[in-house]
Amino acid sequence: MSKKTVPFDRGFAEDLAKKHPTPFYVYDEKAIRLKAREFVQAFSWVPGGFRNFFAVKALPNPHILKILREEGMGADCSSLPELILAEKAGLRGEEIMFTSNDTPAGEFVKARDMGAVINLDDITHLDFLAKHAGIPRLICMRYNPGPLKEGNAIIGKPEEAKYGLTRPQILEGYARAKKMGAERFGLHTMVASNELNPDYFVETAVILFELAVEVFKATGVRMEFVNLGGGIGIPYKPGAVPVDLFRVSRGIREAYDRIIPSGGLHPLRIVTENGRCVTGPHGYLVSRAIHEKNIYKRYIGLDACMANLMRPGMYGAYHHITVLGKEGVRASETYDVTGSLCENNDKFAVDRELPPVDMGDLLVIHDAGAHGHAMGFNYNGKLRSAELLLQEDGSVRMIRRAETVEDYFATLDFGGL
Ligand SMILES: *Cc1c(COP(=O)(O)O)cnc(C)c1O
Repeated sequence: MSKKTVPFDRGFAEDLAKKHPTPFYVYDEKAIRLKAREFVQAFSWVPGGFRNFFAVKALPNPHILKILREEGMGADCSSLPELILAEKAGLRGEEIMFTSNDTPAGEFVKARDMGAVINLDDITHLDFLAKHAGIPRLICMRYNPGPLKEGNAIIGKPEEAKYGLTRPQILEGYARAKKMGAERFGLHTMVASNELNPDYFVETAVILFELAVEVFKATGVRMEFVNLGGGIGIPYKPGAVPVDLFRVSRGIREAYDRIIPSGGLHPLRIVTENGRCVTGPHGYLVSRAIHEKNIYKRYIGLDACMANLMRPGMYGAYHHITVLGKEGVRASETYDVTGSLCENNDKFAVDRELPPVDMGDLLVIHDAGAHGHAMGFNYNGKLRSAELLLQEDGSVRMIRRAETVEDYFATLDFGGL
């Protein structure tokens, strides 16, 4: 069960706030490294080597990508700026996976120039890629399992998703790719998002293993790796159970032993593209209470808003909140915790039980290390915050400065008004 703790106290945060005005993000380097090592350890049995390609969209900061690279992770990119970011963090060639969809030609060209592993989202992308960038030696394709043959209680409704190729297209796609000059092959799927059931990931592996064998039998194309995608969830709510990577790994290993050697595909590499579970729990949004308002309900207004962290407003997602310095105080009050957007869904929490909040208190919003700052936007003229790295030696380094009004105006020309 997850406990919700903060790796710094009120005094530490107040010191930070003297240099970096609230709100700001803090990422815990030590915890991120430990999580990356857990992946390496859990999947050390994988023949030919396991790698998680960190989904850059979850936390697109080159300093984080560099830390993860040092711990053996690659980068999973889906746009030109994400490819450039990975490059700037020192990632090269097949350390980068390019899993995009509805892809502009120029992005395939960049991915090809970098020697990234290109993962195609559609059968028509073979000709598109050949025309604009050329078919690389190594090619991967994304499978959409659709309504699975025997049905599947675990995997939801992939047929509603815009991604990937159908089963017949997969068989045809690899045969065509081979004719077009590809010599090395990978197979990908991604059907989960923020999923806490470990069996889900084992099930995904079974689907890919069986399909890889089927492709081999039908076309002679031999997969070099399968990519199970991302989607491992995190326990946003206190008491939720985190996914046990070792349990997932054991389940996948059993499936591997059952399917892969007899299917003639041993050794087969296994890779993943997780973002959320790597950095999500290790990012904290620190914000100050600036208003208390009592009307039909009680509100605490923060100096952060939905532009800094969109998940609660957008999905109604739960993010735990700690009032710094009041960790041991009983949660005797019930508040809505809001931001300042002129949108009524700009609430970090609704009917949340918290200790009494005083104006000036620092509140920490938990599990903001993935799909947090990254989703930020400028609606209502709101500026995105700084990102700080709490380093292993306890010192703090700013890895992104806060936006300024000048940044906000950078794309406007006020001349001639
Ligand atoms: C978003 C995404 C991921 C990462 O998902 P997480 O939930 O952050 O693990 C991986 N692969 C693809 C293709 C994605 O779209």
